Amino acid sequence: MPPEVLRTVNHSLLEYLGHIMISESTINKVRELPIEEIIRPYVKLSKKGSSLMGLCPFHEERTGSFSVSPSKNLFHCFGCDRGGDGITFIMEKEGFPLWTPSSSSRSVTR
Ligand SMILES: [Zn+2]
Repeated sequence: MPPEVLRTVNHSLLEYLGHIMISESTINKVRELPIEEIIRPYVKLSKKGSSLMGLCPFHEERTGSFSVSPSKNLFHCFGCDRGGDGITFIMEKEGFPLWTPSSSSRSVTR
């Protein structure tokens, strides 16, 4: 591939990544939101004790094993073992990476 073509490809790739990567300030804003507010548009949640339960959006199921802990600001599915914070949820649900220097050091539990 001639270098100028390569440059064009790299440029559009960067532009593409710029569109799908959400800025760090957006991520910080999402982190400040209560996790149930992030998940509620996707999952119908009902209160069970100190947690909220619903049908997991990541795997097929009829009984809810998807649990949201508002006090810890974390979600966890006992069926498919996915879990994490609001950022992880959006990443998993929307299927795009939100890696930033600050979030890449955090461990994401699946
Ligand atoms: Zn699940």
